[in-house]
Formats: sequence, structure tokens, C-alpha cells
Amino acid sequence: MELSDLKRRALLGDRQAQEECTRQGIALPCPCCGSDVIVNEIPPHKHTLATFMPDYEGGCFIECPSCNYANCGKTKHEALMNHNRRPAPPIGRCKDCAHSSPRMVMGNKTYGKVCKIDPYLVHEVNPDGYCDGFKPKEAPND
Ligand SMILES: [Zn+2]
Repeated sequence: MELSDLKRRALLGDRQAQEECTRQGIALPCPCCGSDVIVNEIPPHKHTLATFMPDYEGGCFIECPSCNYANCGKTKHEALMNHNRRPAPPIGRCKDCAHSSPRMVMGNKTYGKVCKIDPYLVHEVNPDGYCDGFKPKEAPND
């Protein structure tokens, strides 16, 4: 499988692809702005001078150089897991959208799927169409 394809699927919310990225040590781009992120791994260490401080368990910080996004974990793996695990962006087909209603009859006209994102504007949608207002229907097991 091509790397770019893996990343693309991960970015689309494919959980398996996200886990595979984490396994391969790949950090996906920033979820807020799409920039490449900086991964800073701090290995576990003891404090030799400030001995009153507890041993540092190690940490990994993922930061975006272009916006305020940051994520972290105790290990690089954990940080990547937190960072790479992201919900599918709100893009989806109208037929899967919570705003779409089943067929609707108004007067003597029958509409197909209707988008109800704007209650004052009833418009029929293509079930396979996309729009910015996508809201996933309640996921069964999530
Ligand atoms: Zn960013």
C-alpha cells in the first residue's frame, strides 16, 4: 500500500489506517490547519541535580508550527495515537447525514431526500452528494 494512500485514508477518519500510521511512526498533518507537525520526544530520565523531583516518565509532545494545536502522550507511540486518532472530518454523503430526511411529500409533489439543515429552505439533495453541513448520524457503537 502506498504511504500517501494510507495517510489519506487516515485523514478521512479510517481508524485502521490511523493505527497503521501510529505503528509506522507517522504523524498525520495538523488536524486544525493541515501543516506538518513537529514531534518532540523526551526520553524518561532521573533528575540528577533536582533529586527531590520525581523521575520523569518520559513524554512526547506534538506541536503544530503554524497554529495553536498541540497533543501529547507519555511515549511517542501514545502521543501519535492521540494525535493520529481523529474523527472523520465532517464531510459525508447526504444519505449518511443527520440533516437529510427520507422522502417527503409536500402538496402533490414528492421529494427525494431533503436536506433540513436550514428549516426555511427545503431542497432536495442527491443522496451521493456532499456538502459543508454534513453531520454524521448517530454512530451505532461509538
Ligand atoms: Zn496547525
